[in-house]
Amino acid sequence: AAKQQRDGAYRFYADLKGQSVFSKPELLAELKMALDNKELMLHYQPIVDLAAGRIVKVEALARWQHREHGWISPLEFIPAAEKGGLMGRLGEHVLIEACNQIMAWRDLHDQPISITINLSKSQLAKYEAAACIERVLEETGISPNFIEVEVTEEVFAEDYEPLLQALNRLKRMGIRIWLDDFGTGYSSLHMLHLLPIDGLKLDRAFVHRLSEEPARLATVRTIVALARNQGLAIIGEGVEQPEEEAILLESGCTLQQGYYHGQPMTAMQITEKLRTAGR
Ligand code: C2E
Ligand code: MG
Ligand code: MG
Ligand code: MG
Repeated sequence: AAKQQRDGAYRFYADLKGQSVFSKPELLAELKMALDNKELMLHYQPIVDLAAGRIVKVEALARWQHREHGWISPLEFIPAAEKGGLMGRLGEHVLIEACNQIMAWRDLHDQPISITINLSKSQLAKYEAAACIERVLEETGISPNFIEVEVTEEVFAEDYEPLLQALNRLKRMGIRIWLDDFGTGYSSLHMLHLLPIDGLKLDRAFVHRLSEEPARLATVRTIVALARNQGLAIIGEGVEQPEEEAILLESGCTLQQGYYHGQPMTAMQITEKLRTAGR
């Protein structure tokens, strides 16, 4: 079964709510250096399909270990890259690393897994992520089936026409598109009809403490039913407890992601998981 042991709960950065160790210009300069020195890497978090009983995809999550200050959260350095004009480079780095990983996993297994990549607003609009993905896929010969993208509702807050065009281009390339952190944005339902999406990632705010709060259960069931009626897939995010796994499953949500199924981990650790599952 896909009910793997929780990996020795290691933490990457002390506390997301804690104060940043950098001033803004410092952070940007350090990030620039980190990109030059290839200090940025990817960790991968399993997405399991409980119906199939296996890992079907992994989400690529950017990781930065600073030589002095340790792990810096993407919640800190992604917005900084975004504002400081580094998102094009960072995004391309993530994409290339993910594609290299796909090739490694492709040769290793008969049931290949896909990688989902987060795309931010400037990546879609300004840095032409779609063109970049097309180019990298062409160069590597990877099938678009193995790359999926995640975008949040937030990026569509205003002036979404260029973003829509970028998504449509990805869609035409055969790339699956997920609406990330679904339910936390402000115009969710309207967006479902506008965007060429394949599925929703139900934000962990709904999944968290699901067993304790009946109101959340009703919301989750409604969203899962909504997705099904719209012909969309759905992934439950932030599954931390066996009860949450069970309730989601009962609601019809078999695709799940969260610490309970596996923390974000190195490619090597994912490889190991795939190996032991295949036995
Ligand atoms: P996200 O795309 O919604 O990613 C899921 C976040 O939830 C990750 O945080 C993950 O570590 C965390 N998470 C997963 N399972 C659980 C759980 O069971 N409980 C709890 N409490 N948290 C869980 P992370 O890695 O800190 O990333 C934060 C955000 O940074 C991501 O949110 C994504 O929006 C952004 N991000 C990360 N990597 C990239 C990247 O390469 N490119 C872009 N554009 N954004 C990225
Ligand atoms: Mg995501
Ligand atoms: Mg998410
Ligand atoms: Mg999120």
